[in-house]
Amino acid sequence: MNHNELDALLKFDRDHIWHPYASAVGSLPCFMVDSAEGVYINLADGKRIIDGMSSWWSVIHGYNHPYLNEAIMRQHKKMSHVMFGGLTHEPAIKLAQKLLELTSPEIQHVFFCDSGSVAVEVSMKMALQYFFASGKSGKNKFAAIRSGYHGDTWNAMSVCDPVTGMHSIFGNCLPIQFFTDMPKIPFGETWDESDIRSTENIIIKHHREIAAFIIEPIVQGAGGMRFYHLEFLKHLRRLCTQYDILLIADEVATGFGRSGKMFACEWSEITPDIMCVGKALTGGYMTLAATLTTNRVAEMISLKSPYVLMHGPTFMANPLACAVANASLELIVRDSILQKVKKIETQLETELQNAKDINCVSDVRVLGAIGVVEVKEKVDLRRLQPLFVENGVWIRPFGKLIYTMPPYIISEAELHTLIKGMIKTIKQIK
Ligand SMILES: *Cc1c(COP(=O)(O)O)cnc(C)c1O
Repeated sequence: MNHNELDALLKFDRDHIWHPYASAVGSLPCFMVDSAEGVYINLADGKRIIDGMSSWWSVIHGYNHPYLNEAIMRQHKKMSHVMFGGLTHEPAIKLAQKLLELTSPEIQHVFFCDSGSVAVEVSMKMALQYFFASGKSGKNKFAAIRSGYHGDTWNAMSVCDPVTGMHSIFGNCLPIQFFTDMPKIPFGETWDESDIRSTENIIIKHHREIAAFIIEPIVQGAGGMRFYHLEFLKHLRRLCTQYDILLIADEVATGFGRSGKMFACEWSEITPDIMCVGKALTGGYMTLAATLTTNRVAEMISLKSPYVLMHGPTFMANPLACAVANASLELIVRDSILQKVKKIETQLETELQNAKDINCVSDVRVLGAIGVVEVKEKVDLRRLQPLFVENGVWIRPFGKLIYTMPPYIISEAELHTLIKGMIKTIKQIK
């Protein structure tokens, strides 16, 4: 592609296409991607950069993976899509089997849907239908901790952090939920019961109205990239059981090894009543998510009219997406990804420490294959984004957070280059 063609395309993009959380007018420039392979993103201007984001937690095996390519091509020759109402297919069944193998034995039912936000919506519907069927329809609200993120659709939005989330704009139209203080004791530090107090108080006071407590286990992602104490989740599980509240674990970001366990709930050795997975489910190839639950929840919903779970997306269990998800889960087992995540964690812990001494940095933290550098002031994306690219890395900061969650296939040398590029850029902030 020559310069003029590239400029014309970018101009059209800028003038007519919305990007995530972006303006239609005067938006920040985007970089045109030509192709991607392994951990590398090849830009249309010929530059090659190392991906530090896994395309928002999803591309865990790297881009253009031969095994995943093959799986999708094989399925493509059979059928790309078929409706899931009244029909079923092997890719969906195999995928459900694999998901149940990976999760706790109590989890027995799978609902496939399109995206993480929809998986969250479905989980909330499940909880409401569960209490409707059990004759406790007064339990129709949700509780969540502050600083959470659960997606951008209506009800998912209502349980996102009420301050940093989108409540300031949509607040009047969103259902009112209960918010408890976010956990303050970081992962790995000394536990103190006071950390759960606000949550406990709200549950004691309002449990008759609360259907479910929704939480991102251990890692608060887009709400602040925080890692909290595993005792918090253990206590929350106990409280939910005691007060007849369903626990929804939103594992959309943390699922499939990112936190160092296959699912972050395993850190606390708890089983949620409902869990949501997405993002890395297809290795970042297609959009697919799932909401999983126990026999107890699934059977209760079916006990009372309408007897069915009221959701059914057009592209439910899309065969191409299921086929590539199957291949991705095979790679997760075959390539012992938890060991790889451990290696990435060790290297991030060692090499990201070098960021601690930079003036503008307030905190450095690592868990699993997630490395976070928090700076003292909100970053100027317009200035910083091109600098990252110039320094050979794809890092997409938000607010005060400069973070990486690289593809698990990244080599030691590539990760070294990635961290170096990150640190070099952070040094250029002021
Ligand atoms: C990304 C994310 C979602 C939303 O997923 P989408 O596929 O973007 O709709 C929900 N919950 C968590 C924890 C996420 O990180």
